[in-house]
Amino acid sequence: MDRILRGIMRYRQLDRKTMVEQFKQVKNNPTPKAVFFTCMDSRMIPTRFTEMNVGDMFIVRNAGNVIPHSHHFLDEITSNEPAALELGCVINDIRHIIVCGHSDCKAINLLYQLQDTNFSSQVNRRKSPIRAWLCAHAWSSLEKFQQLELTDYSMPLIFQAETPQRKFVAYIDPENKLALEDKLSQINALQQLQNIASYGFLKSRLEKHQLHIHALWFDIYTGEIYYFSRQAKQFVIINEDNIETLMDEVENYYM
Ligand SMILES: [Zn+2]
Repeated sequence: MDRILRGIMRYRQLDRKTMVEQFKQVKNNPTPKAVFFTCMDSRMIPTRFTEMNVGDMFIVRNAGNVIPHSHHFLDEITSNEPAALELGCVINDIRHIIVCGHSDCKAINLLYQLQDTNFSSQVNRRKSPIRAWLCAHAWSSLEKFQQLELTDYSMPLIFQAETPQRKFVAYIDPENKLALEDKLSQINALQQLQNIASYGFLKSRLEKHQLHIHALWFDIYTGEIYYFSRQAKQFVIINEDNIETLMDEVENYYM
């Protein structure tokens, strides 16, 4: 807490005035460009690695960057993530949703362990909100991972994209460089695109290509950031060599 209080003092002295100016500009012309879902992990600082600033994106963080599927919500019972989707994409008309996973994710490592039936038993889920959260909302990621395992991690997985008719194919870690938990983390990021598309209030926007959903993946070990390219059918490192191709893909492929 000491460090936080001292940090606030430094912010007062160095950044407060500039930020208040930025808040004023944004208030008159708010144009956030993305709803960004990522993990609550302390190493993930999305505004820093995307160089975004005041007014640029809505950020939603939770354990494992999970967006529960709409079938979990009946009547008025909901959770934060769909509410954030509506606030961002409907009320504020934001056109891009990004889900960003990462390597060495503690939530995903735990999800991997939940394959052990004793570890994920009902008794344990009742005592452990994180186990309950992952079993309820990330189990579909685990099922996809198990499909991949059956093919010795070599066959592509198929995910539903913006509409049930629209699908994309994903080769997970084709060079086989990642730990099993990190493969699961990439699958989990992609599975969330499918979950996002399950919400009825986004349906017409998705069908009309007014709303686009993307996956990023941050490798904690190298600091590299990957974009899931539907053209390349895999996560690719965003770098000087492919940035133009990726920009073209984002501009054209989804239209
Ligand atoms: Zn994480």
